[in-house]
Amino acid sequence: MKNIGLVTISLLLSIFIGLTLKSSNTSSSALKANDKIVVGFSLDTLKEARWIKDRDIFKENVEKLGGSVIDISANGDDSQQIKDVEALITKKVDVIVIVPHNGKAMAKAVKMAHKAGIPVIAYDRLITDCDLDLYITFDNEKVGETQAQYLVDSLPKDRKSKIVRIYGAPTDNNAKLFKAGQDRVINQAVKDGLVEVVHEDWADNWDPANAKKIMNAAISKHGKDIQAVLASNDGTAGGAVQVLKEEQIAGKVVVTGQDADLVAVQRIISGQQHMTVYKPIKNIASKAAELSMDLAKGKPVIAKSAIENGQIDVPSVLLKVTVVHKDNIKETIIKDGFHSPKDLGLE
Ligand code: BGC
Repeated sequence: MKNIGLVTISLLLSIFIGLTLKSSNTSSSALKANDKIVVGFSLDTLKEARWIKDRDIFKENVEKLGGSVIDISANGDDSQQIKDVEALITKKVDVIVIVPHNGKAMAKAVKMAHKAGIPVIAYDRLITDCDLDLYITFDNEKVGETQAQYLVDSLPKDRKSKIVRIYGAPTDNNAKLFKAGQDRVINQAVKDGLVEVVHEDWADNWDPANAKKIMNAAISKHGKDIQAVLASNDGTAGGAVQVLKEEQIAGKVVVTGQDADLVAVQRIISGQQHMTVYKPIKNIASKAAELSMDLAKGKPVIAKSAIENGQIDVPSVLLKVTVVHKDNIKETIIKDGFHSPKDLGLE
């Protein structure tokens, strides 16, 4: 893949990129009232808990702003996702927000939408090699760095620990960014003699079943003498923990994650997983709702950052993430209303 390691261009804070839409994208909708605006939302999947939250909070916010949403999920199928976008174009939506299954494959959808004069926002995952209008995401390299730093900090300093690395879907640009952030920390730990990576692989489609296979392969090759699993999200952490349970070493092996999924936080409470990265869905979903309504109306949108996507520097909004572990569940996700103490079995 051409876009391994996208270059984030951090512009000086004081410099803002003013994104003024091309008139061809906006002429039909520039004068629309809020209550006439229809936003198309094309999702890769609704299989993981986070995407259901993304969809629901996004819809709620667009509706609060007076618009409406047509959402479709492609079930992890690239050609289906292209058809979904085609259907949204046929329905003459005013703006399309896309969570791509495959960041490269969806460039075609962006071109089709632009041909119909409809602006496109990439949501959470970048779409590469196209003239994308806006990208809203979390600081993905920071996610990877946070996971790896937590893992290294949890390991002994007086001997070398064996670790397994489980990356995400190779079709998802975020998976590469998480890895890039992790690499910065892990490469140093390897140099310092603190860590040895005994097994690593990519989990196709972020599927927990594939993560399970990777973990099984690691154990059959290297045995149970493994001290940590650097899993890139909570789904893959879940697959790894299943194997650790079968091998009766769950809890003894440090496991990372991402998303603060309910089941993952429950695993943290029971000691089978050690951390997750909380990405406040309400922040990304509400920001995307606000900016999609603005784009639909032809309002200029201001972004502080730009991310190179192989074709252009895409104006980008990068949101902050928070590490969650056993000792700060209350001050983070509970305080934020992401999960209730009751759902977490804490009351
Ligand atoms: C998202 C993660 C998610 C993963 C699998 C990534 O692009 O950023 O939050 O866990 O996809 O759906």
